[in-house]
Amino acid sequence: MRVCNKILVASQNPHKFLEFRALFAAHPEVELMSAEGIIRNPEKLDFVENFETYAENAAEKARLANHASHYPSLSDDSGLEVEALGGKPGVRSRRFAIPKAGVSQDQANIEKLLTELKGKPASERRARFVATLCLCIEGISVQATGILEGTIAEVPRGTNGFGYDPVFIPQGSQKTFAEMTDAEKNAISHRARAVQELMLQVRAKGISIAKP
Ligand code: IMP
Repeated sequence: MRVCNKILVASQNPHKFLEFRALFAAHPEVELMSAEGIIRNPEKLDFVENFETYAENAAEKARLANHASHYPSLSDDSGLEVEALGGKPGVRSRRFAIPKAGVSQDQANIEKLLTELKGKPASERRARFVATLCLCIEGISVQATGILEGTIAEVPRGTNGFGYDPVFIPQGSQKTFAEMTDAEKNAISHRARAVQELMLQVRAKGISIAKP
C-alpha cells in the first residue's frame, strides 16, 4: 500500500504553502514539507507553466518534484478566470501583465485587470478562481480541482493574501479575499475545495495517509 504521511509542496509561493499548512490542519497525520533544501533549484518548479491547462501544469510540477525528491509531491496550478475577458487571465494569471519597474507583479496584474474591466457593471464582472492540485506518489498521480465563483471589485480593497485577492469578492460576501482573515478565506477558497476533493480521491485510490 502507498503511504503518504510526508508530502513535499512543489511550489515556492510562500502564500500557497501557508494556505496548504492551514488546509491540511484537518489532517494532522500529514506533514507538509517545503521544497527548499530538499530539491535543487526549487524555484524552477514555479516556472513549469508552458501547458494550456491547469491540469497539465500541475501534473508536470508534481512529477518533477517527486522525481527529484522521491517524496510524495503536491503541486497547485491556479488562476483567475474573468467572464467578460473570455476566461482570461486563466492559466496565465501569474504573468498577466508585463513586469513594471517599481511595481510588484501582483500589483501590475491587478492594474491591468481593472483597466480591461473599466466601466463594466457588476453583471459583467463575474469571475472564478480555479485551483487544480496534483499529488504524485510512487508513479501515480491524483488530481482534484476546486472552483470558487465571485466578482471583480471596482478598486482593490484589503491587504491580506496575495495575487488577485484585493479585487476578488466571493459570491455571497461583501468583502474581498484580501479583507478576510486567513481562516475566512481558507473556509471557502478554491484551494480549500480542491484539497477536500483531493483527500477523497486519495482515499478512493487506497493511498494511506496514516503514519506507518
Ligand atoms: P501559478 O499557479 O503559479 O500559475 O500562479 C497562479 C496565479 O494565480 C497566482 O500568481 C495569482 O496571481 C493567481 N492566484 C491563484 N490563486 C490565488 C489566490 O488564492 N488568491 C489570489 N490570486 C491567486
